[in-house]
Amino acid sequence: MKMFGTNGIRGVANEYLDADLALRMGRAIAKVLGPGPIAIARDTRISSQMLVSAVSAGIMSMGADVVDLGMLPTPALQMFVKRVEDVTGGVMITASHNPPKFNGIKCISADGTECSKEQESAMEEWYEKGCETCGWDSIGCMESITGADMAYIDSILSNVNVPAIKDAKLKVCLDCANGASVHTSPAILEMLDVEFDVINGEPDGMFPGHESEPTEDNLSELKERMATGRYDLGIAHDGDADRCVFVDRNGRYVPGDRMLALLSKRAVQFYEGGIVVTGVSSSMAVQDAVESAGGTVDYTAVGSPIIARRMMEIDGVFGGEENGGLIFADHQYCRDGGMALAKVLEAVAKYGPLDEQLAEIPEYCTIKDAVMCDDAVKATIVPKVMASVKDGRVNTLDGLRVDYDDGWVLLRPSGTEPKFRIYSESKDRAVAERRAKEFRALVEAANRARTRRYKVKTKRTFFK
Ligand code: MG
Repeated sequence: MKMFGTNGIRGVANEYLDADLALRMGRAIAKVLGPGPIAIARDTRISSQMLVSAVSAGIMSMGADVVDLGMLPTPALQMFVKRVEDVTGGVMITASHNPPKFNGIKCISADGTECSKEQESAMEEWYEKGCETCGWDSIGCMESITGADMAYIDSILSNVNVPAIKDAKLKVCLDCANGASVHTSPAILEMLDVEFDVINGEPDGMFPGHESEPTEDNLSELKERMATGRYDLGIAHDGDADRCVFVDRNGRYVPGDRMLALLSKRAVQFYEGGIVVTGVSSSMAVQDAVESAGGTVDYTAVGSPIIARRMMEIDGVFGGEENGGLIFADHQYCRDGGMALAKVLEAVAKYGPLDEQLAEIPEYCTIKDAVMCDDAVKATIVPKVMASVKDGRVNTLDGLRVDYDDGWVLLRPSGTEPKFRIYSESKDRAVAERRAKEFRALVEAANRARTRRYKVKTKRTFFK
């Protein structure tokens, strides 16, 4: 794959990701997702309208129609594609949590899930080859549709206990990060009779409030507001609102793995059993919480499309990752920030404040580290480190995971950066730190060995 990364095509607008690329890729998208109509939506970035126009022109030049849904959360577009029968695919123009100068093209299959790697590589092939456009009398047309946001909200409300949430009379502070949730999430709160204040609630693609990644550092304003004690729950989305993170009533940011564990447990309690699907990098807290409620965990490689597809295969009740990407099988098989918001309100209404609920979730210490590593070398690291592993249970589902009785370590190449990531978890901080250090040394040694060999080779060639 040259163009598609883990979350579609990403790049700086008008540099790598310019209108020419978008037009040519629009044609390739029509080839793979056609015959159409193909739905398109965008986040609030200032380059998004240009890219919607260019991708749409490419699609229409292939004879396929385009349905323009305007500015919407990614999961709202996915719901539209899934629900509207004759729509054969979707395109989301967003760079999610990346800085304002970036944008992206993300493609959606007819069933509303993110396109598979096979579909994406077919698009790249058509992009390379170039597509023959249709005759003048077959060019597609473009129709703008409003109301996809309301259909999405209705669908969310049909999946939670609305009277229970209304009765709880909750107070919420919502941070929309000036992104795609600015209309939908306030509307969901309003319909659930939740009293709320919104920060960064204006659509603004420069993200003036804070960067659109909902990390603890970026949510200082929300945490300060929550620390006033006036609210029951703090909620924040990323730029395209497929993710949702939470701050408790005392102003404490809830780490994503603890939230994933809690919601996994609630899902298993609701269904009285069932399978939760998550990536191999997830905390043991998830497995502990799920098993305590009588469910089981199924592990996949890291990445929400992989988790979503596995949920469909094995009928998983819930899935997700620790970055706030949460997938509710009853709603749709994709990360869904709006649904997560409503489900957490439902949990608070039923089980009480988030901080009290989180006391049920065991505490683990998770160390996250990374070694700089050239992309060309990444594939050689795991076999080398594996040869040095003397104890523990080895799993190569994604990178190398070694499980011990008192914790685990995961080594995996980053899909987006020249880094090799190291995760180490244990209930005992000293154990987690010791293993992180040991495995970092093994990765560094494997990386150095490769680099040294490469240098010697170059030298010989030079002296010939
Ligand atoms: Mg996102």
